[in-house]
Amino acid sequence: MTDPLGPPPHERHWVDTARELAARFAVTATDRDKTAELPIENLRALHASGLDAAFLPVEYGGQDLSYRSYGRITRLLSAACPSTACIWVMHIGAAAGLVAMSAPDVARFYAEELAGGRRFANALSEPSGGNLFLTPRQHATRADGGYRLTGAKRFCSGCEVADHFLVNALVDGVPTFFGVAADESMKFVPIWDTMGLRASRSQLVDFQDTLLRDDRRCPPPRERRPNHIGAGLAFLSLGIADAAIDALVSHAKGREIPTTGRPLAAEQWLRFRLAEVHTDLVAAEAVSREMCRLADVNDAGFLPATIRAKLLANRVAKDAAQLGIEAGGGSAYLKTAPIERIFRDAQAGHLMAFSAEVCKSMIAGMLLDTPDGTA
Ligand SMILES: Cc1cc2nc3c(=O)[nH]c(=O)nc-3n(C[C@H](O)[C@H](O)[C@H](O)COP(=O)(O)OP(=O)(O)OC[C@H]3O[C@@H](n4cnc5c(N)ncnc54)[C@H](O)[C@@H]3O)c2cc1C
Repeated sequence: MTDPLGPPPHERHWVDTARELAARFAVTATDRDKTAELPIENLRALHASGLDAAFLPVEYGGQDLSYRSYGRITRLLSAACPSTACIWVMHIGAAAGLVAMSAPDVARFYAEELAGGRRFANALSEPSGGNLFLTPRQHATRADGGYRLTGAKRFCSGCEVADHFLVNALVDGVPTFFGVAADESMKFVPIWDTMGLRASRSQLVDFQDTLLRDDRRCPPPRERRPNHIGAGLAFLSLGIADAAIDALVSHAKGREIPTTGRPLAAEQWLRFRLAEVHTDLVAAEAVSREMCRLADVNDAGFLPATIRAKLLANRVAKDAAQLGIEAGGGSAYLKTAPIERIFRDAQAGHLMAFSAEVCKSMIAGMLLDTPDGTA
């Protein structure tokens, strides 16, 4: 029977492709975390598989791959190597966003660039703007052929290998998106020595008098549309939760408590906590899959669903990783334990915009500050 919230049958081979690639990425994830080197070979393998281009609209040579498949694929990649998944979500989000938001000839250009293997990144968050990354504070000033931007965007995943950036700035006081090709006016400041997602290399990008070209300016949106960054974030966390539960189960089955001679997996406290985390994960998954269904039919409910899905998925990733640490005991506290990296990686989803606090403010605002009080 067809699962209405799962990948459509004709797209399942893409999920299989992602599963095979993810198995390879998992092998190097720990090493990438240690060296904090960008997993460029993983990103190239994703492109070479045809997956990147499959997300393009059919009119631009793609397959219009559904959000239901996208969510499943992101989750598989994130369980294996969340840094790879994070950069990939930003890459697909920036490229698909530029194709969707640009005038047709520019959209075609970006579609061809994505299909040709060029890399994309988002430079949206500002040091002074924090979570409100869709409301830039930096003004671009009028210049020949466009506008000039001087300022910094930070935590730009995969920026060092990007050929094109999705950038926003205030133009005459109005938040405006541009596609910007990497050039000498942009410097990457190496701030990314982080606790988790270390190989995502989400550096600060310093723009000095960078030209935002008139012909790469995205016109104001005329219609509502979902986006791959918003939809992807919940699945990054679901993948990390999967990895945490896998590590926990494997440890609990293999570890005998020395004083009782019983396997850790037989402990009632652990069994109950695991059952709770698992149930929360299934709930977060259900909300996330429904969010993708709404995105696939471009339903207005997509936005609140995105916020709820992200909130639940971020929490379950952190809870699962926390339980993994507690179940692992001192062994889990060692850097050699798999759960150690997963625990650090699990913190990122909560912080990424919109942060869990901002998501809660939005949901509360919908419930309390609107006439009909529906979220
Ligand atoms: C791993 C990772 C990858 C990222 N990748 C990218 C990327 O590719 N491109 C990009 O543009 N950005 C990226 N970001 C940036 C990210 O999406 C956020 O915009 C950024 O982290 C927010 O700034 P901040 O962390 O300094 O938090 P701040 O916004 O300064 O938040 C500090 C605290 O204040 C709370 N807070 C902030 N605003 C509000 C509010 N309005 N109401 C209530 N509470 C609030 C927050 O919840 C938090 O607790 C990435 C971040 C991370 C961690």
